[in-house]
Amino acid sequence: MVTGGRVAVVGGSIAGCAAALAAHRGGADEITVYERTDGRLAERGVGLAMHDSRYAELAAAGFVDARMPWVQMTRRGWYVRDDSASSPLGRRLTEMPFPFRTYNWGPLWRELRARVPASVDFRTGNAAKQLRSTTRGVEIDGESYDFAVGADGYRSLVRTTACPGTDPAYSGYLAWRGAYPESDLPDAHLWPTDECAYVVFDGGHIVIYRIPDDAGGHRVNWVFYTTPPTGHTLPTDSGRTLTPALAAHLASLVDHQLPPFFRTLINTTPPADRFVQPLYDFTAPHYATGRLALVGDAATVARPHTGAGAVKALQDAAALQSALISCTTPTEALAAYDAHRAPAGRTMVDLGRTLGRALVQETPLWATMTGTDLTAWWQTADGSGAFGGRELGRG
Ligand SMILES: Cc1cc2nc3c(=O)[nH]c(=O)nc-3n(C[C@H](O)[C@H](O)[C@H](O)COP(=O)(O)OP(=O)(O)OC[C@H]3O[C@@H](n4cnc5c(N)ncnc54)[C@H](O)[C@@H]3O)c2cc1C
Repeated sequence: MVTGGRVAVVGGSIAGCAAALAAHRGGADEITVYERTDGRLAERGVGLAMHDSRYAELAAAGFVDARMPWVQMTRRGWYVRDDSASSPLGRRLTEMPFPFRTYNWGPLWRELRARVPASVDFRTGNAAKQLRSTTRGVEIDGESYDFAVGADGYRSLVRTTACPGTDPAYSGYLAWRGAYPESDLPDAHLWPTDECAYVVFDGGHIVIYRIPDDAGGHRVNWVFYTTPPTGHTLPTDSGRTLTPALAAHLASLVDHQLPPFFRTLINTTPPADRFVQPLYDFTAPHYATGRLALVGDAATVARPHTGAGAVKALQDAAALQSALISCTTPTEALAAYDAHRAPAGRTMVDLGRTLGRALVQETPLWATMTGTDLTAWWQTADGSGAFGGRELGRG
């Protein structure tokens, strides 16, 4: 075990809280978390999903538990607009198993944060600005550490030192997102609570599922993937509200492509609760170099079609913990961590690109597909079988 020592974690979101836990269990004496925002993370965010099997592994590793509120999904219904269909949900192409728990990002982060030991110096409103790596350790804004973990998201400062030149690549399309209380959705009973809906159309699709609210009820959470209108400006990291052009594009697609129930579902979203996010992906060639490690989105961003963003971040922390426990020096532990997790990052990025082509960029003729066709098409698209995340032990 790498006992003793000072560890810095840059970023205090999902990956940062989990990495602080990992460092604590891995034997570090002093842990400092630098988090740029001022601590109101729990009020932000919408939905995410976690495969039941990945949940079980992460629960066994001590990173999630049943006190974190979730909604259980069991199936995935595929719908397409068909004006001759008798159901307002449109024509149901097929149903596939969907053994996932869904979470509300804010409460999930809050629960993880609560599990970070009180001995950890968690500095909110404190961005790491200057980082210097030496053979014996890391210096951050004048303070020395034995090693540092970059949990600072896809524009990671730590990655610029650990793996310079690894830049996020724009996928060519956007995700429009929204969430609101289920009680506002007309005829909510028509759509089963345990069903995640995939509503498909030429050039994109929407994923819709319920997530927990913070009061024992549900929120409707949707993500609408398609290419933006030509000539649009990419939303920036700080400005993700819909421009009039992006709002109009969404409205037109909703009107022309969706069955009535799902049209209403999107249109019911208050404008203030809609936002847009450009999709990027990349993976760092190494998850650790010298005394620097990368976890979560700092190491790899895969497109959300993989259903594994938060899972990947938590798995990184679990793998880091195992490496710190099984090795005796930081250098050895970080090298073991890199060997375990870098292949997983590559697999997830590849899967995200394949699913992006299948579900957005080169969509099939949905309306002519039978349920059997769709099942075979999905098996080809998810060739690696990594949808929802790879098994933790496989890396
Ligand atoms: C507020 C928020 C809400 C989100 N909501 C959702 C959601 O609803 N659904 C979903 O699927 N994903 C959401 N995500 C993204 C999701 O958390 C990640 O994709 C995934 O869980 C991996 O998390 P991460 O901790 O690696 O990265 P992130 O969640 O991006 O966290 C990176 C953290 O690092 C901090 N940081 C960056 N640079 C510095 C620095 N120099 N010094 C100190 N701190 C720094 C940032 O403030 C941020 O808190 C959200 C992220 C955030 C920050």
